[in-house]
Amino acid sequence: MDQVAQVREKTDIVALISEYIPLKKMGRNFKALCPFHSEKTPSFVASPERQIWHCFGCNLGGDCFTFLMNYENLEFPEALRILAKKAGVELAQFRFEKGVSSEKEILYALNHLAAEFYHYLLTKHNVGKAALLYLTQKRGVLLPLITTFKLGFAPRIGNALSNYLLKKKGYKKEDLLKAGLAFQRGSDVFDFFQGRIMFPLFDHRDNVVGFSGRSLSDGVPSKYINTKETLVYQKGSHFFGLNISKEEIKKESRAIIVEGEFDVISLFQGGIRNAVAVKGSGLTENQANLISRFAQKASLCFDQDLAGQEAIKRSLPFLEQKGLTTTVIETPDAKDPDEAIRKNEAAFKKALRNDVGVYDFLLAKLKRLYDPKTADGKRKISEELLVFLSEIQNEIVKEHYLKKLSLELDVSYESVLRQVEKIKSKKEEKINSKSSAGLSRTREEVLEEYLLALILQTEEVLGIFTKAKDILAGFELSVPSHQRIFERLTLHFDKSKSFNGKLFAKTLPQELLSSFDTCFLFPLPKFSTSDRYQEEVEKIVNELRTLYLKSKIRLISERIKSHEKEGRREELETLKKEFSRLVSSLSK
Ligand code: ZN
Repeated sequence: MDQVAQVREKTDIVALISEYIPLKKMGRNFKALCPFHSEKTPSFVASPERQIWHCFGCNLGGDCFTFLMNYENLEFPEALRILAKKAGVELAQFRFEKGVSSEKEILYALNHLAAEFYHYLLTKHNVGKAALLYLTQKRGVLLPLITTFKLGFAPRIGNALSNYLLKKKGYKKEDLLKAGLAFQRGSDVFDFFQGRIMFPLFDHRDNVVGFSGRSLSDGVPSKYINTKETLVYQKGSHFFGLNISKEEIKKESRAIIVEGEFDVISLFQGGIRNAVAVKGSGLTENQANLISRFAQKASLCFDQDLAGQEAIKRSLPFLEQKGLTTTVIETPDAKDPDEAIRKNEAAFKKALRNDVGVYDFLLAKLKRLYDPKTADGKRKISEELLVFLSEIQNEIVKEHYLKKLSLELDVSYESVLRQVEKIKSKKEEKINSKSSAGLSRTREEVLEEYLLALILQTEEVLGIFTKAKDILAGFELSVPSHQRIFERLTLHFDKSKSFNGKLFAKTLPQELLSSFDTCFLFPLPKFSTSDRYQEEVEKIVNELRTLYLKSKIRLISERIKSHEKEGRREELETLKKEFSRLVSSLSK
């Protein structure tokens, strides 16, 4: 057995996934809210028997390796290394360590060297002196923090870093370009960052994924520039500071989310060690996903201006979707948390303790903007706020705020509820018109998949299968792969009375496996009793039988028509008999 198979064999997919997201047992499988897309009802399924996972929402799926690669954004060699270690498999001929490392690993290594290079220049070299003075004198950053966050300086000389990486470290020009550390003009390469204070951006596993470079003067058009998108850096997928603050965030189950690097550093200096910076205007969906792995509560402390408020509104749906409690920290006497904590540390810490629920915050802001006593004011306040309130996941919290809104606007709770209903149905219309345009599966196809799922996922496969087979006798399932699985089941039960999904899958030809896995993992609704389960099977099987009958009848009536034209008497008689037999069995 090769080592990859060995690791896969020794890794339990359910145990592995459980380390990252909570799984719930549902029949033969385990279900969860998918970590790879946003959803309210679970469509992520893991099968202990097949040792695979699949999401019916976003269609991602695979084995233990693909799960880890997707979840931790890893390359295969890295995932193999981690799982081999867990499984206690020693990777003897380790083909990845020497020679070719993966493309991502090259970029991580380059970024790491660049960060060291910049940090050295800032802290030890003459060329970084002005930048060091700026940080320590003007921004009040203490030296130990410069080390903690590995701040650096990119010199003005156009190719200092490139020369170092190419000549001293032996990297290729292409690698530097791919890492976004250099750009090419003619045949020469130049450093991408020049004359800037450098903030390396780490992911939560301590890889340097990119940089943000700040100009030393304020009055320039691009005060900050960031690494362009690379294989390891996607805009809006990381937080500045998460590598440092993640333990504290976990411990407190709360993340303070700020806008910029200096906010994080100043807070850290003031003893607040659970802050991260979004590096943009509000959280993206990816960032909300990421932070929800570490904290239950997100406290937003953005810039205290209109842009900051808009950033809160933009972030909120993503945070709500992940079920995070969101609050806002207000610092009315300063433009951002960096200034606030340096002006008055005690006042800032008090503001931190007195954070307000984000919906209370929005309502208060709207009430200052519009007059809640006038009809027009009531309309504007409710229109703006209900878009957010209608998305609250927790029903009790939602009711709390809907009642609060009705009180504050002095209108009845019922009219607020009716307005929420209107918003909901408008949204559903949008979703429906979107989804019906894309897919065109026949009703038969959908029902067959559901039926096979009901058969394959029950504890009594034989009983359920026999029932379905009896009712469908004389018909074929409309999708060839479904029909073939059905036939394979017949063959299987001719020989055996028990059923094991894993062993059964092994007897299937390769081309049927994906269809089998879809049905084997398909998320079924919960049935209160086995009688209810049986009833559901009967209902589906009978509907399928009717559909098959109808399509047979359609076929025969077409043939009757064409035979009538051609005047073939004898065949016509047989067809008509068959036709009436089918029609009468339709009512059975
Ligand atoms: Zn998904």
